[in-house]
Order: sequence, then structure tokens, then C-alpha cells
Amino acid sequence: MEIITKAPEETSALACRIGKNVPAGTVICLTGDLGAGKTLFTEGFCRGLGIDSDVTSPTFNLMNVYEGRLLVRHFDLYRLEEESELEEFGFYEYSEPDDGLVLIEWADKFPEALPEAYIRIHIERGQDENERVLSFTRAGEIDAAWLRELLSQEGK
Ligand code: ADP
Ligand code: MG
Repeated sequence: MEIITKAPEETSALACRIGKNVPAGTVICLTGDLGAGKTLFTEGFCRGLGIDSDVTSPTFNLMNVYEGRLLVRHFDLYRLEEESELEEFGFYEYSEPDDGLVLIEWADKFPEALPEAYIRIHIERGQDENERVLSFTRAGEIDAAWLRELLSQEGK
């Protein structure tokens, strides 16, 4: 599934809608180059969960935690050099939430370390400077119809 946005606000609004409707236990893996919009997406997603604190990339601290409708753990693996570092900051403890949500920026760095089921959102630049193509794919037991429904909750 692909969604094209033509401005940062459109990506935010989409992410916000998803944040409003997403159930506990969901993991979202965000991939795409620097400046693609992974953090912007996370910020919108958090807004949908009623979180209004600043959302920035946890590039140095690796994980930020926000509390809204659900607890959100936001990871950024950009600076990580070795997979063994994941264990040091508790990635495996937190990356399969029962009752919270997880977003992982640069999730494709250590594909083997990812939880079993997740939604992957790959963001690429489009033709114009403010255009982005968001591709949604699934891993593990994520139901296709369920994902389609989540993405199609226009305006809710
Ligand atoms: P990343 O976390 O992927 O490195 P950021 O979210 O920090 O990227 O930055 C994305 C940048 O791209 C922001 O400056 C944002 O304003 C800009 N941008 C322009 N158009 C879009 C769009 N359609 N969707 C998302 N971001 C966009
Ligand atoms: Mg980022």
C-alpha cells in the first residue's frame, strides 16, 4: 500500500490519524533516508495519541518514552554500530509491547533484531521537494485487511 503526501502537514495528519486508531501492542518500523520524514511521522503519530511534549529523534539517547492514550517507546538506531548495543539499552525488553506502542527509526539497520510482527513504513522522496511516498508493508501476523482499515480511517 502506498500513500503519497505533498506537504509535511499531510504526513503529520496521516500519522496522527493512525496514532488515534492504532491498538496497543503495535510496532511500527520506519525506514528511509535522513530527512525522509520518520521523526515528523512519529511526532504526528504521538499527537494522535494525545501527546503534546516535544518529539525529537532519540539519536543520542536511543530511546524516548512518551505517555499518551498509550505508552510510546520511540527508538532511533541511526548511531548504533553493533547489534550487541541493542541489548545494552534494553531494546529487546521493550520492542515487543503488550500494552504500549513502539516506533523504530532506522529499523532496517538490524533486521534480525526486529520483533516478529510489525508494520513497516518506508518513506521516500517524491518528485517535488515536499512530496513523499510512504509504502506500508507487514511482517508477521499483521492482517492485511486490518492495516487497510487503519489507513483508510479518513478524517476520523
Ligand atoms: P527523518 O527523521 O526521516 O530523518 P525528519 O522527520 O526529521 O526526517 O525530517 C523530514 C523533513 O522533511 C522535515 O524538515 C519536513 O518538513 C520535510 N518534509 C517536506 N515534505 C514532507 C512530507 N511530505 N512529509 C514529511 N516530511 C516532509
Ligand atoms: Mg529522525
